[in-house]
Amino acid sequence: MTYQALQIEKDEASYRCGLKTLDDSALPEGDVTVAVAYSTLNYKDGLAITGKGPVVRKFPLTPGIDLAGTVTESRHALFKAGDAVVLNGWGVGESHSGGLAQKARLQGDWLIHLPAAFGARQAMAIGTAGYTAMLCVMALEKHGVQPEQGEVLVTGAGGGVGSVAIALLAKLGYRVVASTGRPQEADYLRGLGAADVIDRAALSAPGKPLAKERWAGVVDTVGSHTLANACASTKYGGTVAACGLAQGMDLPASVAPFILRGVTLAGIDSVMAPRALREAAWARLARDLDLAKLEAMTQEVGLAEAIGLGAQILAGQVRGRVVVDVNR
Ligand code: NDP
Repeated sequence: MTYQALQIEKDEASYRCGLKTLDDSALPEGDVTVAVAYSTLNYKDGLAITGKGPVVRKFPLTPGIDLAGTVTESRHALFKAGDAVVLNGWGVGESHSGGLAQKARLQGDWLIHLPAAFGARQAMAIGTAGYTAMLCVMALEKHGVQPEQGEVLVTGAGGGVGSVAIALLAKLGYRVVASTGRPQEADYLRGLGAADVIDRAALSAPGKPLAKERWAGVVDTVGSHTLANACASTKYGGTVAACGLAQGMDLPASVAPFILRGVTLAGIDSVMAPRALREAAWARLARDLDLAKLEAMTQEVGLAEAIGLGAQILAGQVRGRVVVDVNR
């Protein structure tokens, strides 16, 4: 039995990602086999496809940190043939072959059932980016951020996490300010629910330890000076949910916002999040994500086209979300 898959190979001379025909012997160990319907392209998939970040730890490997499809074989108690499932993270697409393929073999412990509210394509339009946006929103809520407390900032607004975060927060009644380096996308961001759009240059240069208090909460996908400045301009008692590093992995900040304004810096990890938290986030997505907005932020490509988009997403040139139809 053969199937189509992206495959990353590395040797001393080169790092390359290509479309391959593989047979079942290429599938890794696992107790559930899935016929993949859709995958997606996240920032981390861009790092894997291009080799620009050391996320792939085993070669050859099929990238794709997300997939949605139907179980074809299972030795796991929670899943049986015919079940619709979703996978996000757990090191899949990094150290275990992933979703950018027509077939995947995984640990059932990593899977969740596809929520009834979504088809496989919609689940991948959400993907790790959207599920992470939901984790960020849940972290703001957990720390008491409420719409009446004031504006919420979303950085990296035009990207996948940012776009979903805007749609979620707007639907929940927050006044959302979108920070972007793409002023030409202002109408798109307002269409998702942003009340205001600001130039990311206002946040991306080195700033003061404390700035004027503006944000009740922040969803930061960018890191570096942007995250430092977001913390410095968060209001007394506010919360900053940090999930990304599009500007950089550094955090050139001071403790001033935390010890003088009681600001909370909430770290967000989607990859190893336990099943109960994943299921809670997906249930909240089913309730709080406007599917028309999800469609408006999504483009669809075939498996081979995902290769070229890997470099584009790292360059900040992809708007919103990319769904990959692995069967075209
Ligand atoms: P995208 O590439 O879709 O979005 C990132 C956005 O960041 C870009 O669209 C751009 O938005 C902005 N950006 C890009 N480069 C820079 C820069 N140099 N300085 C400032 N802003 C920049 O990626 P995703 O939305 O998929 O992921 C966003 C981040 O979150 C990534 O770093 C990713 O690794 C991380 N992530 C973390 C997860 C976790 O579990 N913690 C899970 C998912 C993602 P604009 O053009 O609007 O300015």
